[in-house]
Amino acid sequence: MAKVVVLSEYCKSCGLCVEICPRKVLAIGDKPNPKGYFAVVPVDETKCIGCALCGLVCPDVAIEVYK
Ligand code: SF4
Ligand code: SF4
Repeated sequence: MAKVVVLSEYCKSCGLCVEICPRKVLAIGDKPNPKGYFAVVPVDETKCIGCALCGLVCPDVAIEVYK
């Protein structure tokens, strides 16, 4: 099963990955990371198809996708 991992310490909460995900797996979280950004969290990992679009679009290389 595909798995998406957000490296929350690198996330700047830009929302690009949330917008591009075709399965609406990701959402802006409610906990600030050490830099004060509300890092993205996977809200329904079971829907992830491993397309890796989120990882490609992230300007801060904060997402890893495993297939
Ligand atoms: S790999 Fe694809 S389906 Fe999975 S969270 Fe990223 S954009 Fe969404
Ligand atoms: S694209 Fe990267 S920096 Fe932007 S919200 Fe998603 S994980 Fe965070």
